[in-house]
Amino acid sequence: MPLYRIERQGADLVVYGDVTDQVFYAAGNGFWISGDQLEEVTPVNLVVSSGVVRIPNVRGVQYMKNGVAVAAGSSHIISGDVTFTAVPLTGYRFPDGDWRWDFSPYLVEPDDLGMVNNTVRIPSVEGVQYRRNGSNIGNGGTYEITERTTFDAIPRTGYRFPAGEDYSWTFEPSPEESSDFKFPFPRNSRNSPYRNHSGIDWAGGRVGSNADIRAIGTGTVIQVYNYGGNTFPGDSSEPVWRGRCVVVDHGMIGGRRIWSLYAHMSSLSVSNGDTVTGGQKLGVIGNTGFSNGTHLHFEVIYNGRRLTTSVGGGYERTLGWLDANADGSW
Ligand SMILES: [Zn+2]
Repeated sequence: MPLYRIERQGADLVVYGDVTDQVFYAAGNGFWISGDQLEEVTPVNLVVSSGVVRIPNVRGVQYMKNGVAVAAGSSHIISGDVTFTAVPLTGYRFPDGDWRWDFSPYLVEPDDLGMVNNTVRIPSVEGVQYRRNGSNIGNGGTYEITERTTFDAIPRTGYRFPAGEDYSWTFEPSPEESSDFKFPFPRNSRNSPYRNHSGIDWAGGRVGSNADIRAIGTGTVIQVYNYGGNTFPGDSSEPVWRGRCVVVDHGMIGGRRIWSLYAHMSSLSVSNGDTVTGGQKLGVIGNTGFSNGTHLHFEVIYNGRRLTTSVGGGYERTLGWLDANADGSW
């Protein structure tokens, strides 16, 4: 029979010893204490604010961070996967339950940087620090490219990027852009500003369910899909989603290689290797692949890397690029 010494310290009943059984015997005073006589406490959930976990002060509770005790009231920045647990101090016990919390840094993805007329705009993305040729720069700035310039994005403390992505962009000053860009579909046709999206969806609607899809500019047809084909770098989706789809390579525009992608077409008018010009018919709007109605899914792809749908912003980015580069007439 193990022996325990019990003291009452203020409101706390303290049992010195290893409290593992439901019945305890207190030495000296010669009386038994049952588990029912232990004070019951409930640890509270840990508070998280922008990647920082704060340890509350709860009587009878010891919090542990990856197995090491941490002080009440302390704050902990989550920069790697961290497990917090709560254990009852001697003389206390918890209600049945699992008092364990797992935290990971917030997953963020920096926006692609675009160069328009040799100017790069740095977007403000929570959790992201940008660097220009190795030096930290603030968010939201605009930078003129007069020499070869590399921008890198690094995650701030408490944030991390998706594994396997390299966020580095190098720009060279380039001659004025080609001016023959056009819209692939009438700009103000009904469209979906769906946020978690890699591009923009235009519905057939007013223009008609047999409307043409047009190339946005001079280029070479590099991929023609018929429910298949290769994925792009950075594209984890199954290519079958695109149905009948065309990708056009427009060459270097504003320091980056620009591709345009047109998906879900009902019929195709071009073949791999064809040279096309802005406004040329590529096919007819359709409902092929993963599609819930006749529409054009259109993307602008920079340097062969799609915007991932988990981050989205494709609607704003795609329309923004077209507005900056394309003639609004159709
Ligand atoms: Zn779409």
